[in-house]
Amino acid sequence: MGDVNRENQGRTSMSTPLVDGLTVSEAAGDDVKKTSRDQREALPGEPICVVCGRYGEYICDQTDSDICSLECKQTLLGRAADTHLPVGHPLPKRLAATDECFYVRDSESPLTSDQTELLRRKLEIHVKGDSVPDPILSFSSCNLPEKLLHNIQTLGYDMPTPIQMQGIAAALTGKSLLASADTGSGKTASFLVPVVSRCATFRHGNLSKSKKPLAMVLTPTRELCIQVEEQAKLLGKGLPFKTALVIGGDAMPRQLYRIQQGVELIVGTPGRLIDLLAKHDIELDDIMILVLDEVDCMLQQGFRDQVMQIFRALSQPQVLMYSATMSQEVEKMASSMAKDLIFVSIGQPNRPSKAVKQLAIWVESKQKKQKLFDILMSKQHFLPPSIVYVGSRIGADLLSNAITVTTGLKALSIHGEKSMKERREIMKSFLVGEVPLVVATGVLGRGVDLLGVRQVIVFDMPNCIKEYVHQIGRASRMGEDGTSIVFVNEENRNLFPDLVEVLKSSGAVIPRELVNSRYVKRSFPMGKGQRKRKYGS
Ligand code: ADP
Ligand code: MG
Repeated sequence: MGDVNRENQGRTSMSTPLVDGLTVSEAAGDDVKKTSRDQREALPGEPICVVCGRYGEYICDQTDSDICSLECKQTLLGRAADTHLPVGHPLPKRLAATDECFYVRDSESPLTSDQTELLRRKLEIHVKGDSVPDPILSFSSCNLPEKLLHNIQTLGYDMPTPIQMQGIAAALTGKSLLASADTGSGKTASFLVPVVSRCATFRHGNLSKSKKPLAMVLTPTRELCIQVEEQAKLLGKGLPFKTALVIGGDAMPRQLYRIQQGVELIVGTPGRLIDLLAKHDIELDDIMILVLDEVDCMLQQGFRDQVMQIFRALSQPQVLMYSATMSQEVEKMASSMAKDLIFVSIGQPNRPSKAVKQLAIWVESKQKKQKLFDILMSKQHFLPPSIVYVGSRIGADLLSNAITVTTGLKALSIHGEKSMKERREIMKSFLVGEVPLVVATGVLGRGVDLLGVRQVIVFDMPNCIKEYVHQIGRASRMGEDGTSIVFVNEENRNLFPDLVEVLKSSGAVIPRELVNSRYVKRSFPMGKGQRKRKYGS
């Protein structure tokens, strides 16, 4: 076989027969990359896999094509069988896998199953469940009402993000869904587009005068509810689609009146909603979609009973559940709430957004304030608008005052003890740039879209690593670059192993004190020079 020279160049034919149909390198075990995801991107000038565009480390003997893994070899050979084209012949309209926007194409024609698989692989879309539909390639390809499409365009959403591609397709089938994707990756529209579409279509085709609510979105914080409702209004503009916001801190009679006037969607926090339902007769039997945003938080103790109470008051709606972080327990609970669930995850769950550059600094508790002031007074390190996360309401008030006194910067605090009016005003002045810095508790930790924020400083490490992932996620929306700084010391030792994992997975530097801590298992990767060489001399 004529591949020896290539092996000498460090690449291997995948089909040098050995035993039982295995080839030399396949038999060598871990040397052969099993899936395309295991393979790295190709460097300039390197051979690229003809199927997915990653590093074409191997050569497929039957086709003589460069290939990255066993998976792509299968795809390549299967492709030839499917299309009856000569082996190795490229498919018509093949996706240009190295092009970032490779899914922008004539999106009206359906993808072949190979192309769907390739697309999912490229965008790291993982799915589980029966009859999962193909991802949509454009908003216009899934029969949305004209006005909704227009509103999507007005918002400037030219293309669906990966979670929207798969999430919208799945939700439009009417099946329940558990989905995870990075912070800032467009999950809100991923559930709101199907919600608006299904509600508007239902009203349009239903002659009954009844205006009972058709959908409900539950989120853990008032701020997030406000944002979700705002986005729902924008998406539903001009359609039979009205919304009601049901959150604590706002007057209940007004909320009730609005629902009684007839709305399609209720957005609320579980506590206030239960209060409202207990005191007033609100008919929920037409609700066909229940959304749990930040589902892992919603199904945690504290919220879980309230959520289940609301769920039991509904008549088996479609349930759409979303978060950037997941756990097996959440998956189990979700499965018990809905039959025939579709699971979608984009990238690796529970990992922070890759767009956020993390810095962990070892700082003893007594020095944290001074360290923060140093950062805020440094032109190089302070990158406003910024959010500083602290662990307590009083801590937020004290620290924001201390910042203003010491550094002269205008800083405001936001937490659950402030009135809704105050919270709204603070958010507004922060978002329009009047205030460069907000000191917040967890009320701003999850889901809230703080456009423009490029820096998060985690002053007090939260109690759980997932909250950390959500907090630093505020520094990046839609993959834009952001930075985060976290202060750690021995008091956070419970989280050391998880924090090290998260920092390691993002390629961030791990502070020496953390590396040497007895609370961390030694599992650091070998340095560059120590790495095992795969091929070649
Ligand atoms: P997540 O819920 O995943 O944390 P959001 O739904 O808050 O993220 O979206 C983050 C930002 O991305 C928002 O400002 C939103 O308007 C914007 N966005 C969402 N979908 C798209 C899209 N398809 N194209 C451009 N921007 C989008
Ligand atoms: Mg969100």
